[in-house]
Amino acid sequence: MRYISTRGGIAPVRFKDAVMMGLADDGGLLLPESIPAFSAEELESWRTLTYPQLAFNVISRFVDDIPAADLQALIERSYATFNHPEVTPVVQKDGVYILELFHGVTLAFKDVALQFLGNLFEYILHERNERLTIVGATSGDTGSAAIHGVRGKAGISIFILHPHGKTSPVQAQQMTSVLDENVHNIAADGTFDDCQDIVKELMGDLAFKQKYSLGAVNSINWARVLAQVVYYIYAWLRVAEKGQKVLFSVPTGNFGDIFAGYMAQKMGLPIEKLLLATNENNILTRFINQGDYSVGSVVQTLSPSMDIQVASNFERYLYYLFNQDGGRVSAAFTQLKTEGKISFSNEELQQVRQDFCSASVGREETLATIGRFKRETGYLLDPHTAVGVRAAQQLETGTTPVVCLATAHPAKFGDAVVEATGEPVPVPPAIAQLEGLPTRCVRMAADSEQVRNFIIATVG
Ligand SMILES: *Cc1c(COP(=O)(O)O)cnc(C)c1O
Repeated sequence: MRYISTRGGIAPVRFKDAVMMGLADDGGLLLPESIPAFSAEELESWRTLTYPQLAFNVISRFVDDIPAADLQALIERSYATFNHPEVTPVVQKDGVYILELFHGVTLAFKDVALQFLGNLFEYILHERNERLTIVGATSGDTGSAAIHGVRGKAGISIFILHPHGKTSPVQAQQMTSVLDENVHNIAADGTFDDCQDIVKELMGDLAFKQKYSLGAVNSINWARVLAQVVYYIYAWLRVAEKGQKVLFSVPTGNFGDIFAGYMAQKMGLPIEKLLLATNENNILTRFINQGDYSVGSVVQTLSPSMDIQVASNFERYLYYLFNQDGGRVSAAFTQLKTEGKISFSNEELQQVRQDFCSASVGREETLATIGRFKRETGYLLDPHTAVGVRAAQQLETGTTPVVCLATAHPAKFGDAVVEATGEPVPVPPAIAQLEGLPTRCVRMAADSEQVRNFIIATVG
């Protein structure tokens, strides 16, 4: 399997090189040259597989430069860190299925991809006798999951920028309490988008990128999307009969998670629709419902991991929407830069509405949903998950099974949950043990030069 760029400007690379490249050298994102498909029969044959077995079956389709036994061992090691035997179990509550993606070390769905990516990096670096400097931006969950994915791993240094004061206290603690020497937290005075722009700028400086072997862990890394494809299939196998279509509701920020669902559908998974749920940062909802893709400014909400305006993985979808025309993708991003928006044809917008539907859920509705769900089912939703659940409840879905992706454990965003239910949230051990731990973090202006100098001074 070879990987190409959404902007059409690189020679095809193999999987391991795609993982190490992160952002493509032409500024685009990497995608497989073709999408491997599975048949309905093959899907049926996967019903009894464990999560790691299924992950191997799916991921190995996209990887032909790692021996099968090694890949299998990597996958098994990655999911052994989860605290649930099913890794991503599905529960049924109040007529919807909840796909619990929060049983990893940092209690958010990003562990599913980042435990795998951490092990993958270590494997490739060891094989090549190379070093890697990971630079990433986070609105909270990516950073902690990435740090926990690579802490203490040989050959890797990690620099994670988060917007100072704009992550939840638990998220900040999960990141800054990791004292391993290879972990460097940067609290920047700015928004998540500022942090992401800095990372993009550093990654876009090819000389710097090569000299310091920069790599990415945010969802622009193809391996993350790939790992996330697996749980759509896993959930489908739990809730659907042969050939039955399912609707997935996906609380969306950077578009990585929902893009994995789009890939699963392209591979042959019977998906009725992907419901893209947003909070007040609803550029993608405006785009899907009104065709308006114009960038606003970031609003702080109850679901901070979705407080994003420019969703980087959206570019991967545009590549398919534009019939795999890298030139058109490049032109669209040039327009975005100069005019602050992207224009679409009516035909393209029709296609978008075939692929997705969307709803935006605000603060009051999010709180009301958490409260009502708790009263009616006894089950606690975190505010991100509640956005997806509320969006799904607004749809006429008939007999189609609805699967809502539960992207974080409610205790991770306890303040919102307490506000919604009026009751304390039971604190799981993974959070309780953070209390009072020493922390390490550098505060900085949201300025790429300062960040660059800090990396140079630290890595040497
Ligand atoms: C990252 C995150 C999201 C958004 O996922 P994207 O892949 O960025 O769209 C939603 N919920 C939680 C809890 C997250 O951490």
